[in-house]
Amino acid sequence: MDAWPACAVPDLPGRGEPLRLFDTAAQAVRATAPGGTATLYVCGITPYDATHLGHAGTYLAFDLVQRMWRDAGHEVHYVQNVTDVDDPLLDRAARTGENWMSLAEREIQLFRDDMTALRVLPPDEYVGVVEAVPEITESIERLLEEGNAYRLDDDVYFPVSAAPGFGTESNYDRDTMLALFGERGGDPDRPGKQDSLDSLLWRGRRPGEPYWDTGIGAGRPGWHIECSVIALNRLGMDFDVQGGGSDLIFPHHEHSAAHAEALTGTTPFAGHYVHAGMIGLDGEKMSKSRGNLVLVSKLRAAGVDPMAVRLALLDGHYRADREWTGGRLPAAEARLHRWRAAAALPAAPTSDKLLAEVRRSLADDLDTPSALAAIDRWAAGALDAPATEGDPAAPGAVAKLVDGLLGVAL
Ligand code: ZN
Repeated sequence: MDAWPACAVPDLPGRGEPLRLFDTAAQAVRATAPGGTATLYVCGITPYDATHLGHAGTYLAFDLVQRMWRDAGHEVHYVQNVTDVDDPLLDRAARTGENWMSLAEREIQLFRDDMTALRVLPPDEYVGVVEAVPEITESIERLLEEGNAYRLDDDVYFPVSAAPGFGTESNYDRDTMLALFGERGGDPDRPGKQDSLDSLLWRGRRPGEPYWDTGIGAGRPGWHIECSVIALNRLGMDFDVQGGGSDLIFPHHEHSAAHAEALTGTTPFAGHYVHAGMIGLDGEKMSKSRGNLVLVSKLRAAGVDPMAVRLALLDGHYRADREWTGGRLPAAEARLHRWRAAAALPAAPTSDKLLAEVRRSLADDLDTPSALAAIDRWAAGALDAPATEGDPAAPGAVAKLVDGLLGVAL
């Protein structure tokens, strides 16, 4: 399906540094090692509710990953999925009486509009599960043929015993896995499974639910296999970064990796597993089930500058769970105002050192708070100095670096 329009990314003088990112599997910050074309897969939305700030924070982090790779001279091949058929979407449609496809279509468009407003770089391939059903089905058939899947009633399961590396992405112990599996869409207590942690590859047709007639029967794909197959068929194994929110560490990313490893007989699925922290409100994780969402579209409708939203999110480190408090937005608006005022001056302190500093901060596991602080110092110096002093090229050069590396249009 169509993604959303890309904003231009200006070329900056010189060359950026190699990007280092925290890898959940290694539990350490490691250098990413892309070839000429860096490869990225980020798990997309389940389109049943509009983009909240938690989503925005996650996609912003991977937007910066792309900017850093490009600045270091790489091309980027970026794939994102849309889980446009799954239980939460169908449940919501059933509750409100809306057609599930219309609901998905509307929410995907809202997400596209939010991403465009926030200047998040789009994926090169934006793939809905509905359009990927044939390739997913073919992979499940292969897992069945090779003894890496089993049938239970009309459903098909993946046995974790088929993946020797199971557990090495999340590093969680079995009790933690069991608890998270139950909380996040798994069915640890279903009788008849070989192991409580085995995950659903194919859900046989249920009354009132959408289904596809396929070689493995009538039904629809499970959640994890969709990402394994969509990523594998476009990026291959050992692509550079698998990304998402930290609530995807288990079971989603562990099982996606396990499925792909069983399908190919090789490892690893991704070079880095990178996870963004959760955004909380009033001490609670922002989530649909808690009903405490701050929606990007609502902020936009209220006239908030999307660049201030972007800056407010970049003010915290992407990996940290952080609070969206009442003061964040006004502080970001004030910062944006100062940066714009400095970038509009006829002259300002030279920007070469600042470019190196911002590059160095972002290359270090996307340390945006340090990058923002460096630009604050430059802006304060520029605004304090008499307007005629300094380098006349500096205000424009800083606007370009803020645009290129942080995606903020001044
Ligand atoms: Zn996914």
